[in-house]
Amino acid sequence: MNIALLFIFGAAIGSFLNVVSVRYQPDKFLFSGKIIGGRSHCPNCKKTLRWFELVPLLSFMIQGGRCRRCGERLSFQYPAVEIVSGIFFVFVPQYLSSYYSLPITYYTLSVLWTLVFLTLLVVFLIDLRLSIIPDEANIILLALAILILVFGGGASFSGSYGTLFGFQGNVWLNHIFAAIIGGAFFGFLILATKGRGMGLGDLKLIIPLGFLFGWPDILFIMAAGFIIGAICGGYLILAYGKKLKSAVPFGPFLVASSVLIFFFGRTVLDNYFNWLLR
Ligand SMILES: [Zn+2]
Repeated sequence: MNIALLFIFGAAIGSFLNVVSVRYQPDKFLFSGKIIGGRSHCPNCKKTLRWFELVPLLSFMIQGGRCRRCGERLSFQYPAVEIVSGIFFVFVPQYLSSYYSLPITYYTLSVLWTLVFLTLLVVFLIDLRLSIIPDEANIILLALAILILVFGGGASFSGSYGTLFGFQGNVWLNHIFAAIIGGAFFGFLILATKGRGMGLGDLKLIIPLGFLFGWPDILFIMAAGFIIGAICGGYLILAYGKKLKSAVPFGPFLVASSVLIFFFGRTVLDNYFNWLLR
């Protein structure tokens, strides 16, 4: 498959994901006509965008990141999400080729895992903007997790440490166990912090993540999520101090750590344990 074509197609899909995440309102269905219908327009002057202003990446670059009519600076989110989506389309299949060789399994799992990361991208953007994770997204993730296991997926992405932590005999039991452990741990945290540290949305996200990634990957995803969260939280407190009004949502960190463990779990964990056991 042509890598450039995959990237361009991915960027176009990313452009659509931007629309979904920017227009999403909590009381509306994620893919309702209100959200995905209607022409795109400049958020400042409301000018309806023409087709040539909607070409992923290219329009943004040619216009210098500004609206053609009012000159308002356009959010950097647009090209950033298009690039990230394009990267998923190229690198998810490329990465999975080292795990699955049977063509039917490989192609099916490539499509399913790409859909997983596109959904996680929407979760990232909506949670960042509204501190809400749409239930629809969690249901989609759970359905994709089930399909991935049905089509022979379910490999651990944490390398040799996947087997070290054991429990690889039955892939379904393993992934159900991961979902229960993740859910129980987050449920405990919510009760212990009386919901200040973490919300019900995070609990509803960790369950499909556990089902997707299995054991022990979910353990590493939670650990990496807390580490990334602590670093970003520390930075925000240093930068904004007491002006930091609302709690920072945790969903974006879980999405970031899921991407990290999926692509780099083997490398990161090998280095970590080598250093630890030195
Ligand atoms: Zn404008």
